[in-house]
Amino acid sequence: MKKCPHCNKVLMASILPQCSWCGGDLKENELRNSKEEILEQWEKKKNEIEYQKKIKQHGEDVKKSFEESIRRRI
Ligand SMILES: [Zn+2]
Repeated sequence: MKKCPHCNKVLMASILPQCSWCGGDLKENELRNSKEEILEQWEKKKNEIEYQKKIKQHGEDVKKSFEESIRRRI
């Protein structure tokens, strides 16, 4: 865990060479993650969101067909 040399808080992943807490400038070697790592994280996050969406959509489809089958029985 790298800490900001300005405010001493643990740095969060940021694409800007800047502390997310105090906005202090950071040198490239002070950044916690390289840009490539951050982009990789974004890609992963994006895939997770897609996955969650699919699960939600599936849940709604199941619910819909369940409701329809109930309606047919009434
Ligand atoms: Zn800082």
